[in-house]
Amino acid sequence: MANLSMNSFRASGMVSDRARERMVREFLEARGIRNPRVLEVMRHLPRHMFVDEALAERAYSDSTLPIGCGQTLSQPYTVARMTEALELTGAEEVLEIGTGSGYQTAVLARLCRRVYTVERLPELARSARLRLQALGIHNVSYHIGDGSLGWPQPREFHRILVTAGAPAAPATLARQLAPGGAMVLPEGTRQRQELIRSRRRGPGEIREVLESCRFVPLVGAHGW
Ligand code: SAH
Repeated sequence: MANLSMNSFRASGMVSDRARERMVREFLEARGIRNPRVLEVMRHLPRHMFVDEALAERAYSDSTLPIGCGQTLSQPYTVARMTEALELTGAEEVLEIGTGSGYQTAVLARLCRRVYTVERLPELARSARLRLQALGIHNVSYHIGDGSLGWPQPREFHRILVTAGAPAAPATLARQLAPGGAMVLPEGTRQRQELIRSRRRGPGEIREVLESCRFVPLVGAHGW
């Protein structure tokens, strides 16, 4: 994992402040992200602390970045778009599948009551937890396992976010969505997906296609 204390980019706080400001202006606002709370959180959260020190200088470019174990941290625009699509008010309990580096987890944690995050690779889960603790983010529950099966204890969530590409929305996850809740997930083939928002309304659901996207595969019982 990135050695937090040795992260030189972090030490030069003003450089990263300016880089984040530019990231928000050029890659988020210019591409249509409007939610002021999402923009504010991403303006302050140190994305460079979520990648290896050697990649820190690229943390505020609009690119996906490797986080080890063959996985990637989504580009800032995608993180913002998915977060915005969840329409968080601050009161929600959110289930996130695919903790990865923990960056998306941290964005969510700043915008809702509690995040329940599941990661199948223990090494990534461990580093993510350390990073969030170092940032003083404590409203997160962690689980290591197959997130396509949902949260291990029976529970309903106001929002569910899947940050890995699934062949279809796992029914196990749909069952953990509270009435009136919404799930956002990339659905499609292993190579390309569409970002879907599915709102639970009464006995049915309202599905919207938000845009096309490209995520690493959701691996598991209800994934690939
Ligand atoms: N949101 C992350 C990036 C996600 S990359 C970030 O901000 O860094 C997708 C992550 O989903 C990877 O870490 C991968 O290991 C994880 N993943 C894939 N299938 C999974 C599953 N069935 N359950 C839990 N995590 C899974």
